[in-house]
Amino acid sequence: MNIGALEEQYKLELMSLYGSEEAKWLFSLAAEQVLNLSRNKLMMLKDQEISFINLQKLLSILNDLQIGKPIQHILEEAHFYGLVFKVNENVLIPRPETEELVEWIISVCSSRTNVDDFKILDIGTGSGCIPVTLKKYLPNTRISTLDISPEAIEVAKQNALQVGVEIDFITANILTFQYEEKFDVIVSNPPYIRDLEKGEMRDNVLLHEPHLALFVRDENPLIFYKAIADFAKTNLKPKGQLYFEINEYLGEETIEMLKDKDFVNIELRKDMQGKDRMIRARI
Ligand code: GLN
Repeated sequence: MNIGALEEQYKLELMSLYGSEEAKWLFSLAAEQVLNLSRNKLMMLKDQEISFINLQKLLSILNDLQIGKPIQHILEEAHFYGLVFKVNENVLIPRPETEELVEWIISVCSSRTNVDDFKILDIGTGSGCIPVTLKKYLPNTRISTLDISPEAIEVAKQNALQVGVEIDFITANILTFQYEEKFDVIVSNPPYIRDLEKGEMRDNVLLHEPHLALFVRDENPLIFYKAIADFAKTNLKPKGQLYFEINEYLGEETIEMLKDKDFVNIELRKDMQGKDRMIRARI
């Protein structure tokens, strides 16, 4: 079988699940990986026969895609801010919105990290995409990161190693965590999806990504934000900054909560899709 024929065979089925643009993209990612070809080459080599072994590998990836498994889980990697991260079912797949949050922090902090001992704490690390990227692009900082899940910490450690950065890892629950150290920046992308928003989620997220990293109870959707804000009040240095990724529907509530806890200079930013997505505040 040649590449073009295989694509034709899977196109319709993938399109009904993912839409035509994404279906094309997914097919080319799978083929690039297995055949070790760039996307352009792939377009030109549609007539090329696929060897038996490569065909088996490709069919296995395409079958996984058909049952809704995320491509990042199939390939066991995700791209984030120009870096490659290992991912599995124990960590959230890094999202473009989180790249925007990281970009905000890097742009604000890059002129400030020449002071001695600039410390950043990331809460709820998952794959480690936030702390690893920050350390890569703000090398003069000391970065600690915390997660309740030992399995997530394991993935984050491997990613730090893969990118070649040093980070301090802590396995702990932020709801009860106490710590001596003070930080210049505290950042978090905690779970923020409510049950009532589950209907908006795609099956490949709902069925394959860790619920521990995604969901909060409808009655107390800011539970992690409140705990992190309280923690930040005691553990930020004077003028230290708190950065959150937020639920697009909870921007106002999050700002009110921060005001109640005496945070100042509260700034809300939208993501590329125009949704309320990030907050920065100071004590
Ligand atoms: N933005 C992610 C999603 O839409 C959720 C991230 C989170 O809960 N912190 O799936």
